[in-house]
Amino acid sequence: GNAIEIEGLRKTYAGERGEAPKEALKGIDLTIPQGSIFGLLGPNGAGKSTLINILAGLVLKTSGKVKIWGFDQDVNPRQSRASIGVMPQELNMDPFFTPRAALEVQAGLYGVPKGQRTTDEVLRMIGLEDKAGAYARSLSGGMRRRLLLGKALVHNPHVLVLDEPTAGVDIELRQMLWQNVRRLNRERGMTIILTTHYLQEAEEMCDEIAIINHGEVVVRDETRNLLSRLD
Ligand code: ADP
Ligand code: ADP
Repeated sequence: GNAIEIEGLRKTYAGERGEAPKEALKGIDLTIPQGSIFGLLGPNGAGKSTLINILAGLVLKTSGKVKIWGFDQDVNPRQSRASIGVMPQELNMDPFFTPRAALEVQAGLYGVPKGQRTTDEVLRMIGLEDKAGAYARSLSGGMRRRLLLGKALVHNPHVLVLDEPTAGVDIELRQMLWQNVRRLNRERGMTIILTTHYLQEAEEMCDEIAIINHGEVVVRDETRNLLSRLD
């Protein structure tokens, strides 16, 4: 089956301060198979973040249909939100939060009962056990990123979305991220969706790739077919 089904998805941002409205997504049709690692590629401004933020329930679509794990966002908003976890690009976080508190609060937001929380396991996975009680303001950029990955995982979602996870990240953190992502995919069957503007990264990681430009899907194929097409 499909982890994600998107039909005729449109998003128009209202223009600010006299600017014209911006059509960020112009009728996207896209299905993402369960258990795959799927790459969304495209230049800056293509609409990748908009698409992801709609999947995450952070941005309202203008029109179209979005199903996550079979749950229509409009019909079953709670179940569709519970099925997906998103690691955002922004590293902003409350400076006086500790990683442990951030994970606990996130789990609470998703209604994970106290007895079923896997905070320690998540802290171990992201390598922050030693920093579990440290204020976020003392965490390095790399640690913050790892914490954001942890927050995306507290409710054990079926689908994990990573928005430009390696932009400006050093090779060590990048490898740690990819290792975790591959393991989640292999061992838990988690469907992974990532955005990047590095073709090479998508090539190494992804089973399938969709290229987005100007708010439209211009190509979608298995990675190996896509590469032979681009040659
Ligand atoms: P990408 O993630 O591929 O760089 P985005 O989804 O961020 O693309 O942006 C797609 C288009 O929508 C861009 O032209 C961008 O300027 C515009 N856009 C994004 N967010 C907003 C917003 N909140 N208000 C107005 N325009 C926006
Ligand atoms: P750690 O100690 O966890 O390895 P670092 O401070 O060394 O963390 O950062 C790891 C990587 O994260 C760095 O290579 C850097 O490029 C990236 N990084 C750090 N801060 C930011 C930031 N504000 N935005 C984007 N990337 C960042």
